[in-house]
Amino acid sequence: MKCPTCIKLKLVDSYFCTQQCFKDHWGSHKEKHVVVFDPFANRPDFKYTGKLTARYPLSPRRKVPDHIPRPDWSETGVPAAELALRETRVIEVLKPDDIKKMREVCRLGREVLDIGAAAVRAGVTTDEIDRIVHEATIERDAYPSPLNYNGFPKSCCTSVNEVICHGIPDRYELQDGDIVNIDVSLYKDGFHADLNETYLVGNVDERGSLLVQTTRECLQKAIELVKPNTPYRSIGRAIERHATSRGFGVIRTYCGHGVHRHFHCAPSVPHYEKNKAVGTMQEGHIFTIEPMISEGKWDDRLWPDRWTAATVDGKRSAQFEHTLLVTKSGCDVLTASPKEDWSHRR
Ligand SMILES: [Zn+2]
Ligand SMILES: [Zn+2]
Repeated sequence: MKCPTCIKLKLVDSYFCTQQCFKDHWGSHKEKHVVVFDPFANRPDFKYTGKLTARYPLSPRRKVPDHIPRPDWSETGVPAAELALRETRVIEVLKPDDIKKMREVCRLGREVLDIGAAAVRAGVTTDEIDRIVHEATIERDAYPSPLNYNGFPKSCCTSVNEVICHGIPDRYELQDGDIVNIDVSLYKDGFHADLNETYLVGNVDERGSLLVQTTRECLQKAIELVKPNTPYRSIGRAIERHATSRGFGVIRTYCGHGVHRHFHCAPSVPHYEKNKAVGTMQEGHIFTIEPMISEGKWDDRLWPDRWTAATVDGKRSAQFEHTLLVTKSGCDVLTASPKEDWSHRR
């Protein structure tokens, strides 16, 4: 006999010898009915821009314990509070109490990213990195902000080689010579942290290592400019000049953003020169800078999953991100690693 649900879902190869056999195996069999996330199924004509391809099925959605407070999209997928503010360009000045909470969630975000990063090596799947990031996040009584944000299926983004950002952790096994970005966001006590870094897997060629190093320097040069009265539009110039001095390009589609009570809010911080960003930095502003630098062209193409952004020419792209607080005379890098010394900027 065949399972009626399998027939309905057009799943093949389910066969049970008797009614009893069907009953006995129902517990494990019904898991096969979970609808597989495969947006490529309807797009057999889709041409990937490089060697990397999606590896489905994704692992089941990870659970967040009930006692952990969650943002409004955790069930619905819709960031309603954030959407209500979409048109506003007003940049919130955070109060001392808010800043205290931001410091704490950003400190935890750094811990979680470093734990995820420690797992990076050839043979590890990006899904395994997601599992590690997810576990480390909930262990700290925090919610992984990306999970179900506009329907995003995982707890962090893993972007390999030609993927610029928003790669979905899947069954892809990292290979010697890859570069991989891990982007981590945590929500705790009503506030979000946001940071990412790009890592080398084993032996990366010289150009790839230079790309990653240059991207890190682009972020550092941008951070040097952060202080009261700096226009947000001036950040992109420092980044683009450094990237182009090495023959690299700056991705234009994705920008830095305000981050605190909302995961993404004003200001918008473009990473390229001659942008039209609105506003100047003021003490108490909190936002990210997160340059994405490409080996080749800066245009991006979205995979059919509507998340993964890859370079059009299939060449590699790297990214680094920090969450920053504007202080009286400079800034505080809230997501800094213990290895980074930003004391001169405070
Ligand atoms: Zn991020
Ligand atoms: Zn961000």
